[in-house]
Amino acid sequence: MTEIPFLDLAAANQEVSGALEAAFQRVMQSSQFILDGEVASFEQEFAGYCNSKVCVGVGNGLEALVLILRAFGIGPGDEVLVPSNTFIATWLAVTQVGATPVPVEPEPSTYNIDPAAIKRAITPRSKAVIAVHLYGQPAQMEALGAVTRHHGLRLIEDAAQAHGARYAGRRVGALADAAAFSFYPSKNLGALGDGGAVVTDDLSLAAEIRRIANYGSREKYVHDVAGCNSRLDELQAAFLRCKLPLLDEWNGRRQVLAQRYIRQLEGAVVLPRVAPHAEAVWHLFVVRVPNRDAIAASLKNAGIGTQIHYPVPPLRSGAYAELARHMPPCPVADELSNELLSLPLGPHMTATQVDRVCDALLAALHEHSGSRAVRKATL
Ligand SMILES: *Cc1c(COP(=O)(O)O)cnc(C)c1O
Repeated sequence: MTEIPFLDLAAANQEVSGALEAAFQRVMQSSQFILDGEVASFEQEFAGYCNSKVCVGVGNGLEALVLILRAFGIGPGDEVLVPSNTFIATWLAVTQVGATPVPVEPEPSTYNIDPAAIKRAITPRSKAVIAVHLYGQPAQMEALGAVTRHHGLRLIEDAAQAHGARYAGRRVGALADAAAFSFYPSKNLGALGDGGAVVTDDLSLAAEIRRIANYGSREKYVHDVAGCNSRLDELQAAFLRCKLPLLDEWNGRRQVLAQRYIRQLEGAVVLPRVAPHAEAVWHLFVVRVPNRDAIAASLKNAGIGTQIHYPVPPLRSGAYAELARHMPPCPVADELSNELLSLPLGPHMTATQVDRVCDALLAALHEHSGSRAVRKATL
């Protein structure tokens, strides 16, 4: 039997290969590679897609977060509340501007940052909250908006995993003061290389980010602030413009496959739960299983690719060993990191492949029974 890859990127690019080749020709022949028409058009199209006022193309998702923090003036001495369970980029952005990340544990059912836990973590030094829409499911933006407004904090979306997801009918990217997107190739909207964007309704914030990201300059050779170089390439913008019109369809296919997983795995594993008002775009389909490493090995033997998001919480990383000595432990993030398993999912996966993954997973659970989940399922 053929193998089932974790994500089939080749198939995605194949579906739009004609458009990608035309985009390449267009940019090559224009000889305009930096900050020109493709970026400007993509920025308009993506802001429109998010139903937000403005989009600024930047170098990648991490830099999108860094630029938002810098433009808000957040730096040394400030605290930024971040999820204890996220990709390390969310934390790296905070430490890159010299601020201190303060971990907040997730809701156990959705894995997204818990608004009630945020209240307990706020101190007089708190300046902002970064809410990650983890695995493609929007965080509880209404409760988060209420807490952050009440305490005068900025609310920032890390939407790197959730292009197109909705909360209470509104797209991520338009749910907070500013949002960071990544177009890393495996994201729901992915370039053929690195790319990122900031989306916001705050026009002066956007102008400040444009200035910082382009050498701190609004006008050529006039450098008012010590900026950096973080720009979306014309070529990547042109490629993204080929894929943006397909994003809703591709997310829709993910949603259908995720429902198929849920129907077949009900009772056998801890399934992802979608919160009220949230519409997930299933960047990842993540289940919780005891004996996770043994189950992953069995699936690998059956030719099925899985991944773990994430095996080491940021606070347990070597990068934050020093910080961890001054932080309370994060038991929920620790427990999740031992049990989470991401199953294959993407817009070019078939229903038959989902069925094969489910059969192999159920067989692996049986093989490694003694596990809580299997006992529960057979009660
Ligand atoms: C991918 C990702 C990022 C970083 O994006 P890059 O473009 O790789 O820098 C940030 N946050 C989250 C949650 C991500 O998944």
